[in-house]
Amino acid sequence: MTERKQDVARRAEKSPLTTAWDYAPAPEARDIVHIQERYGLFIGGKFVEPLSGERYTTIDPAREEPLSEVAQANKADVNRAVKAARGAFDGPWSKLRPSERAKYLFRIARILQERSREFAVLESLNGGKPIRESRDVDVPLAAAHFFYYAGWADKLEYAFPNRRPRPIGVAGQIIPWNFPLLMLAWKIAPALAAGNTVVLKPAETTPLTALLFCDVVRQAELPPGVVNIVTGDGRTGAEIVAHPGVDKIAFTGSTEVGKAIQRTLAGTGKRLTLELGGKAANIIFDDAPLDQAVEGIINGIYFNQGHVCCAGSRLFVQESIYEATIAKLKRRMRTLRVGDPLDKNTDVGAINSKAQLEKIVSLVRSGVEEGAELYQPPCKLPERGYWFVPTVFTNVAQSYRIAQEEIFGPVLSVLTFRTPDEAIEKANNTPYGLSAGVWTEKGSRILAMAQRLRAGVIWANTYNRFDPASPFGGYKESGFGREGGRHGLEAYVAMDDA
Ligand code: NDP
Repeated sequence: MTERKQDVARRAEKSPLTTAWDYAPAPEARDIVHIQERYGLFIGGKFVEPLSGERYTTIDPAREEPLSEVAQANKADVNRAVKAARGAFDGPWSKLRPSERAKYLFRIARILQERSREFAVLESLNGGKPIRESRDVDVPLAAAHFFYYAGWADKLEYAFPNRRPRPIGVAGQIIPWNFPLLMLAWKIAPALAAGNTVVLKPAETTPLTALLFCDVVRQAELPPGVVNIVTGDGRTGAEIVAHPGVDKIAFTGSTEVGKAIQRTLAGTGKRLTLELGGKAANIIFDDAPLDQAVEGIINGIYFNQGHVCCAGSRLFVQESIYEATIAKLKRRMRTLRVGDPLDKNTDVGAINSKAQLEKIVSLVRSGVEEGAELYQPPCKLPERGYWFVPTVFTNVAQSYRIAQEEIFGPVLSVLTFRTPDEAIEKANNTPYGLSAGVWTEKGSRILAMAQRLRAGVIWANTYNRFDPASPFGGYKESGFGREGGRHGLEAYVAMDDA
């Protein structure tokens, strides 16, 4: 026997089949990513020093280690970016033949695909999400959005027949930290396809993939000024919103900031789309395929650490299958692997920031204090970084904060119902209305529920599925306007109604 085989045999002897089989670490190499020590602002096709002279440190939330120094743009910087965007709009971009515009979008999509590993590793490093998700969901979907909207660029007349669609001008776009590259794609792809130019601000904690995207913009030889990226915190966002040279604001983030933006824009004539928070109901009927439903529950709430606006954070289980569902759910939760986002076996990564972790901890504490029953599977968390064990609350009343407020973390609240009417009433009892899930084997019940649920997106026998061709957006305090699909283009075109 070779030495290696002997070693394998020895280890097999020591670990009889009755013991748990641990996963060996499978870390993704990070050397594909080159992070600069410091970044400027991407304005007019090149990186420039911030006029503010200010920078802040962006970190890896899984290790609490600094990654880079990033510019904090002020009013003068935003003004410079808006001027560059206006110059590009009045100059070459809006006059370009639509089929030529499409070629740039196709190019960007192809480059994103070619550099997908680099983007996935960087997204996981800066945001804390598992590499499996950034590699298999975020980056491919971001490329798919550019491909999809590239196809529309020279077909706007068909998308909006008899309405003479034309670009609006300069779009100011503000995105959150939960899907940094994907939200960038949701915003930039339709804006460019319709012939607009953009000034985009990534979230303070996750600027790095947006800054890497600037390199893609240069590689695709997009005319300077068509895409401008300004980094900074909420103050930078507020400057973009207030700038008189911006024709349209697209915002994704918290309902609180969304409301503030709406107040600022009232009476200015600027167009606005808001994609805000959610507290989605995931409804399981007693005829649902239970094992698949449990996978859907897990995917609905623990995907991306629950940092998902459409997360299925309120689970409604029909009373007759309550015990069985909870038993299966807890068993499945015990198999979730929490840890290093760059490990390919990781299911739940790091919480995006210290502030977000504190918010989750405080809401979970309120759940316990109000009387809900908490379950967390046994789980060894890394010593450094921001982490939260996947959590489920049972014995939840509708009035509890954990059933009302967006936690934006890996925390599920379980409630029960007896009849479809009761499920609808409870599910709609929220100020939000972004998404919902329905699990049943009856097609007619799916349709009946979908008609009565006040939510923009309703998944049937699945959850958290996205497609560039499918519009996404909310009702009530979840915002207005749609992103994705033909509807997503509409926000970026001005039209004469025939
Ligand atoms: P915010 O709404 O503050 O952040 C979203 C984006 O808006 C970020 O780029 C942010 O910058 C920017 N921003 C902040 N203040 C202003 C302002 N006054 N004017 C214009 N832009 C602004 O969300 P947070 O990151 O603070 O998260 C708070 C909570 O919001 C979370 O706990 C979660 O519940 C919810 N949330 C919901 C999201 C969703 O998709 N529905 C996404 C993100 C958060 P900066 O990053 O620098 O603060």
